[in-house]
Amino acid sequence: MQRRDAEGQQAGAGAKVRRLYQSGEAVGGSGGAALAVQRTLRAGASVCPGLAKDTVGARGPRYTRAVTLSSTDLPAVRAALLAWFDRSGRALPWRVGPEGRRDPYRVWVSEVLLQQTQVSRGRVYFERFLEAFPTVQALADAPIEAVLKAWEGCGYYARARNLHKAAGVLAREGIPASYAGWRALPGVGPYTAAAVASLACGEARAVNDGNVRRVLARLRGELQPTEAWVQARADELLDLSRPGAFNEAVMDLGATVCTPKAPKCGECPVSAWCAAFASGDPAAFPAPKVRAAVRDVRAVALLLGDGREAVLERRQGTLLGGLMGLPTEVLAEGETERAALTRLAGRLGVTVTGELGTVTHGMTHRRITLTVYAGVGGPARSRVAEAALSRLDHKALALWERRRASLFAPA
Ligand code: SF4
Repeated sequence: MQRRDAEGQQAGAGAKVRRLYQSGEAVGGSGGAALAVQRTLRAGASVCPGLAKDTVGARGPRYTRAVTLSSTDLPAVRAALLAWFDRSGRALPWRVGPEGRRDPYRVWVSEVLLQQTQVSRGRVYFERFLEAFPTVQALADAPIEAVLKAWEGCGYYARARNLHKAAGVLAREGIPASYAGWRALPGVGPYTAAAVASLACGEARAVNDGNVRRVLARLRGELQPTEAWVQARADELLDLSRPGAFNEAVMDLGATVCTPKAPKCGECPVSAWCAAFASGDPAAFPAPKVRAAVRDVRAVALLLGDGREAVLERRQGTLLGGLMGLPTEVLAEGETERAALTRLAGRLGVTVTGELGTVTHGMTHRRITLTVYAGVGGPARSRVAEAALSRLDHKALALWERRRASLFAPA
C-alpha cells in the first residue's frame, strides 16, 4: 500500500514537471528555450543544451523559475524517492538482508572501502576482501600483514589497520546495535556510523557524503553547502519509517541519476521539487570545492633483486608509511637526485648498477615522481608476492619486468 501511494505521488510529480515544461513555465515563457527543453525531454536528454548557455551567468546559474522546497512538500519528496528506489535501487554485494536489517559486517566493510573508491572498482575489492575475511571473527583472527595484502590497491591503508583493530573489538564485545556503539570503534566516523546504524540496525540516522551533498544542494538550489547545512537538510528529509532504504535511495540517486557532470533530470523522481533543475543548469550546483594544492614529491628507490624477490622495507613517515616497499629516500628541499641516491645506497651498503626508469603516482594531496635504480648487495630479499605493497611499488617493480622483457625481446 505504502509503495503504491508513493508511486502515485511520484507519477503526479512527474506529470507536474512535464506540464510545466510543456507550458514553457519552467523556463520562464513559451519562447525558443521552452521549445528546446521540450525537444530535449522528448529526445531523452537530461539538460537542454541551449538553456544552459542562456541561463548561466558569470557568477552562477540565473534562475528561470523559482522552486522552493517547503516543509509540506517533504512527505511527497520522500515518497517519490522511496518509490523510485523500490523500482530502481541497485543490487550491490553488500546489500544482503532486508532493508534496515542488512548484514552489518558487509555494510561496514563496504562503507569504509568506498570512502575513496568508485563503486565499480570498489565491488572488486569488496569481493576480494570478503573472500579473504568472510566474517568479523576471520578478520579479527588474521595477521595485519594479511589484511594489508587484501587491501592492496584500495589506498589509505590506515583504514585497513582500523578495520582490523575494530574487528578485534567486535569479536570480543559483539556487534553494536546503535549509532553510538559503531561511532566508538576505531576509524568509524559519523558517516560510517550513520550508514551502518541505519542500513543494518534500522536507526533513524541520515548519512552525509558526497552524493547526499550534491543531491540536497541541487534540490535546494544551494551553491555552497556547508557540512552542517547538508546534515540539517538530510536529517529533515530522512524518512523515519524507512531510514535505511531512504539513505540507500539518496546514495543511489546521487550515483546513478544526479551524477556530478551530467545529471539525468529527465529520469529523476524528485525533479518536480528541484531548484537546480528549475535553474536550467543543474550541474552548476553545488559550486566546486576549492581543493588544496597538490604537492610534488620526488624520491629515489633501489630495486635489489628482481620482480619476485627483492629487498623490502617497512616505510616510515607520511609517504605510504606502514606499508612494505622498495628502499626509498625522498629528496630533501634543494637536494639532487644523485645526492639522495648516494644517501640511500650508503644506508644499505650497496652498489648502484643502473637506472631502471621513472614512475609517477597521484595521491589526494601529493604527486610522487619516483626514479628507480637497480643495485647489487645489501640485506636479505623477501618474497614480493607475499608483501602488502602500494600501487607505487607495483609500478616500480613493473619497470624491472619491462627491462627484462626488452633484454630478451627478439631482435
Ligand atoms: S535532483 Fe539532480 S537529477 Fe534530480 S532533478 Fe535535481 S539536479 Fe536533476
